[in-house]
Amino acid sequence: MPEQNKLPTLVMKFGGTSVGTAEAMSQTVQIVQNSRQDWPRLIVVTSALSGVTNLLLDSAHQSARGQVHQLYEAENRLRTTHDAIADRLIQDLARSVQVKQEIGHLIAEFSNLCRAMAVLGEATPRALDAVASLGERMSVRLLSAALEAAGVPAQSVEATQLIVTDRVFQNAHPDLKATQERTRRVLEPILAQGRVPVVTGFLGATPEGITTTLGRGGSDYSAGILGAVLPADEVWIWTDVDGVMSADPRAVPNAATIPELTYREIAELAYYGAKVLHPKTIRPVIDAGVGLRICNTFNPQHPGTRLVADSAERSRGEIKAVTAIRNQRLITIEGRGMLGVPGVAARAFGAVASTGTSVPLITQASSEQSICFAVPASSNGEVIQALEAAFAIELAQHDIDRIWATEDVTILTVVGAGMIRTPGIAGRVFSALGQRNVNVIAIAQGSSEVSISLVVDASDADLALGALHELIVTTNTGGAQ
Ligand code: ASP
Ligand code: MG
Repeated sequence: MPEQNKLPTLVMKFGGTSVGTAEAMSQTVQIVQNSRQDWPRLIVVTSALSGVTNLLLDSAHQSARGQVHQLYEAENRLRTTHDAIADRLIQDLARSVQVKQEIGHLIAEFSNLCRAMAVLGEATPRALDAVASLGERMSVRLLSAALEAAGVPAQSVEATQLIVTDRVFQNAHPDLKATQERTRRVLEPILAQGRVPVVTGFLGATPEGITTTLGRGGSDYSAGILGAVLPADEVWIWTDVDGVMSADPRAVPNAATIPELTYREIAELAYYGAKVLHPKTIRPVIDAGVGLRICNTFNPQHPGTRLVADSAERSRGEIKAVTAIRNQRLITIEGRGMLGVPGVAARAFGAVASTGTSVPLITQASSEQSICFAVPASSNGEVIQALEAAFAIELAQHDIDRIWATEDVTILTVVGAGMIRTPGIAGRVFSALGQRNVNVIAIAQGSSEVSISLVVDASDADLALGALHELIVTTNTGGAQ
């Protein structure tokens, strides 16, 4: 007999749409049921039902502004969405009543927390985490009961018992050593009984037990953390598309699933706007040597995308994907006197950071007479104001001539490991755009050698995206083994 912990171990994470309706959840139940044959040790991590986390947080913010009249409606929506699934998937009446009652208690907790916020007139990050955690605390109860109704022995587990984090509410960071110890202590006995732990994604707790969250979309990260500390052989992320696509299929109709991506490529894709995976998920999984796969709950036969280690022979210089970050503005700070002004870049980015805006792309002209970077169009006014205040003296003295922004632009990023070392690919990228008369406003090369980003006018974005996507097909069939 192999040692218990040598048996194949799989962590499967299901996103909000995979549990958002009775149909979706029954599909999820079936996937878990089928996977048990190959994976004697199976751990399920789930998100809240789709839309629930937003509903909880919106209600909390409104409550803090004193608007409590909407709570009744929110409570109702939470109750009806969860109860409808319980009614469909849990046949045993007593069990169904029990689950609905447990969810009812969590809804009451939600209501109490929101009313407390209304009284205090504020929603602290700690209180927001307490509210946000309720979505997953409801979904695990529902999913584990639905699994049991289908004959899969399951047990809901709150990750506050497993994942130990710091006190950075809303974006907590795990302590992997403490998490490993707790996770094994809590999950091993459940696994040893042949049960499937159904764990809340998104949550953790401080060492004293105060609930934290890992950041929006953090359930992927939860799965990565649990996979790393157990350790599991594999982590599978179940979502509602066939893995990672070569482009957004809504903009590029012939976009296709990318069968294999390296960890660096997926990190770059996640950074440049592809909604694939919570970017922090990747780190613990690579460090622990755990396999990662992204697959589709609604098309489970499809192999999806497999993540593979970065290695030289895998970096043949193929273009793998093209992403677009829309609704951006390019801000330029320019002036001939800038050459002599110390610390312009540091002060400029300090001013941008003070508005809470993150900068997806920076380009620098060699002359040092201008600095140019992108910000979301919605933050444009605020950022320009902050910059004008920070450089008021330089503007008055004409060391800086002007600070200005373009109209809306789109950042297109071409991703593929080894691409930049492979001769001719960058050339093909630019000629593809030139042939279609697309004007490239700015260029930035990812430091990681995995991507090239181009800024184009918003009105050229779809044309450019299509042209770049075509290169994936032509370049790769020429160069691939
Ligand atoms: N439910 C959380 C969110 O919506 C976590 C997740 O879905 O991954 O952000
Ligand atoms: Mg979600």
